[in-house]
Amino acid sequence: MTLELKGAPVSRAIQEDLVGRIATLREQGVTPALAIIRVGERPDDLTYQRAAEKRCAALGIEARPLALGETCSQGELLSAIRAVNEDDSVHGCLMLRPLPAHLDEDEACAALAPEKDVDGITPASAFGVYAGREVGFAPCTAEGCVRILDHYGIELSGRRACVVGRSPVIGRPVSMLLLQRDATVTVCHSRTADLAGACREADILVAAVGHAKTIGDGCVRAGQTVVDVGINWDEEAGRLVGDVDFDQVAPIVSAITPVPGGVGSVTVAVLMEHVVRAAERSVIVR
Ligand code: NAP
Repeated sequence: MTLELKGAPVSRAIQEDLVGRIATLREQGVTPALAIIRVGERPDDLTYQRAAEKRCAALGIEARPLALGETCSQGELLSAIRAVNEDDSVHGCLMLRPLPAHLDEDEACAALAPEKDVDGITPASAFGVYAGREVGFAPCTAEGCVRILDHYGIELSGRRACVVGRSPVIGRPVSMLLLQRDATVTVCHSRTADLAGACREADILVAAVGHAKTIGDGCVRAGQTVVDVGINWDEEAGRLVGDVDFDQVAPIVSAITPVPGGVGSVTVAVLMEHVVRAAERSVIVR
């Protein structure tokens, strides 16, 4: 019987833990606050912003949206980021991306103060993830993958993990987080010679490819745990699907995250956790 690694219980557990921590912060006169910088009106950004605002409201975290026009200049964007950096009452900042093409995203990411970088977009956070240090934060989705595995008691230490995808947002940080937890990690990408073989060797397979159903029955074997990070719109089926062909793979493996309802549903809970941790760190340094 295949275990479905649903995201909702993971999300609930993360949030339940936050209730007491937020109450303690409030007793110390601190209300955790998240700035949300959005440029333009991309539907994906609006959806993510609404989800974050809703979760903030439910937990008692203050959400401070900052909307900039689609044609805003690099200078205006950098001023908004600097204002967030200088505002002691803001603990975390989510900058919705990708930014419009005329803006320099790398420069904007680097401008954010690492201690407020709750979605892991700064070079300092990347260093923290790669060196296994408490600097900045890991990207929320990448950390969400590990939180799901932990929640369901999937052992990582000494086990073989295969991550398909090497993007800076998901593949690379997930690989580093798994390595930090003593898994033996193989990272695959579009030039990997024998993708199916590499996938089959793993005990834990993470798919972050960006193409629907790349991972089929030829890539898996019995006993594996599969984490599907992909979010793709399937025109034919008229619904969201992952990078894993769920119908082919689920009957073979031991455990698998569904899409939707898997990794995606944990991302916002991890974001909330990061805001609270940023607020806690700010109290320690006060
Ligand atoms: P990305 O930047 O496009 O990176 C995709 C990676 O997959 C690249 O490293 C690419 O290799 C590799 N790849 C592409 N085709 C491949 C193939 N046929 N075989 C092996 N590797 C292949 O995508 P991303 O930003 O990492 O996102 C990955 C997925 O996660 C997307 O479906 C995205 O929608 C989803 N996502 C989910 C969440 C969530 O909350 N669940 C959040 C963000 C993104 P090369 O490096 O060689 O090009």
